[in-house]
Amino acid sequence: MKVLKFGGTSVGSVENMNAVMNLITDGKKKLVVLSAMSGTTNALVEISDYLHKKNKDVARAQIGKLELQYKEVVSNLFKEEARKKEGLQIIKKCFETIRQEASGAFDQTNEQAILAQGELMSTGLFTQLMLENGYNTKLLPALDFMRIDAEKSADLHAITVNIEKVMKEVGDADYYITQGFICRNDKDEIDNLQRGGSDYTASLIGAALYAEEIQIWTDIDGFHNNDPRYVSNTKKIEQLSFNETAELAYFGAKILHPQTVLPAKLHNIPVRLKNTMNPSDPGTLITSETSGSGIKAVAAKDGITAIKVRSDRMLMAYGFLKSIFEIFEFFKTPIDMISTSEVAVSLTIDNTSKLKDILKELKEYGEVLVDEEQTIICIVGDIIGEERGFASKVFNALEGIPIRMISYGGSRHNISVLVPTAFKQKTLQAISDNLLEN
Ligand code: ADP
Ligand code: ASP
Ligand code: MG
Repeated sequence: MKVLKFGGTSVGSVENMNAVMNLITDGKKKLVVLSAMSGTTNALVEISDYLHKKNKDVARAQIGKLELQYKEVVSNLFKEEARKKEGLQIIKKCFETIRQEASGAFDQTNEQAILAQGELMSTGLFTQLMLENGYNTKLLPALDFMRIDAEKSADLHAITVNIEKVMKEVGDADYYITQGFICRNDKDEIDNLQRGGSDYTASLIGAALYAEEIQIWTDIDGFHNNDPRYVSNTKKIEQLSFNETAELAYFGAKILHPQTVLPAKLHNIPVRLKNTMNPSDPGTLITSETSGSGIKAVAAKDGITAIKVRSDRMLMAYGFLKSIFEIFEFFKTPIDMISTSEVAVSLTIDNTSKLKDILKELKEYGEVLVDEEQTIICIVGDIIGEERGFASKVFNALEGIPIRMISYGGSRHNISVLVPTAFKQKTLQAISDNLLEN
């Protein structure tokens, strides 16, 4: 069985939902993961922000506005009166939940419950559309099988056990539909896999079911060699390896949630990226194989903070780095890039929630400097292969860009540089113009 995921734009209008229905109904059994209709999760985040700020009136007005949009969708999506009624019932229930969660004191748990309504509505409505058109379809409630643990990591074992049970319970179907993004946490509360998490849902389900293939359907023809939102001359990549993709997704390629390839890689399941608006295009295939040589692609991750610790105590001493790393470990803050000299170490983090505590501890070890608003530019390909001179090509290409840190040699297929975010676009464009095949 294949697992197919359709993103927000792919189900973002009545027309697109119909296109997805036509695309998936080839008589072959499949499991389809849907995101919320485009714009919905952003709208729900905005509503939650108002509620956190105790601005209930604006939140209420926004909820009303969103509800009207969904009523309009329902009235255009279905032909039969009974289905329209069913559709209205689905959105009524979701908006009741939203209003209920918004009514009292508002915390993170209420917000998670509100955010889940986007995927609950899109899948509820899409299932009704499939049924109205006579397709043997069953809705699998993701909240009954998608799990994260106390560390907020996906629990693949629980997901595998649960989804089998849920599929048996709902009975046989040609088409199974489920919600991306949403899950339950270790306290059994509604939670999610972070923004863009529907991709991750699809690969977790793909791994749980040992799927034949995982397909991520979106609004572009595949993985491009640079970010099309910032650079004009980007090109689709035909084939990528799991490792190359993991690196690019982790370092900011928005087309895939950072963790998407991990479950697929675990069970060696091919992942294909496809364009809903152009289904005949083969897209990008991601497997365990690496093909081609040289520099393949680049991605950028914003919101990075660089921290430099300078200390004469580092000179000729051992155990210094261990002490520094232990501080980050204690505050559960992952480090992305590291660069050391004999008397200083620089490293980067993207989660700054514990920055104050970390800095206080680090100051025990020496002088500490912090640079905010940095961007990691991650260049991926067969970088440290037989061919020589890649490092110099990269540096020549980045002439005039104030590079704050460089990471080279950590793996064969990646060079990362840290630049001020103000230079992100210029850096990406310079890499496209000088290093990538366009
Ligand atoms: P979906 O809603 O289907 O999940 P996303 O918006 O999350 O879609 O991801 C698709 C978008 O990712 C594209 O429209 C494109 O603007 C952006 N993107 C960023 N980097 C890349 C890249 N390297 N290749 C392709 N698309 C990219
Ligand atoms: N709807 C969620 C979001 O917008 C999940 C997803 O689209 O993948 O982040
Ligand atoms: Mg996405």
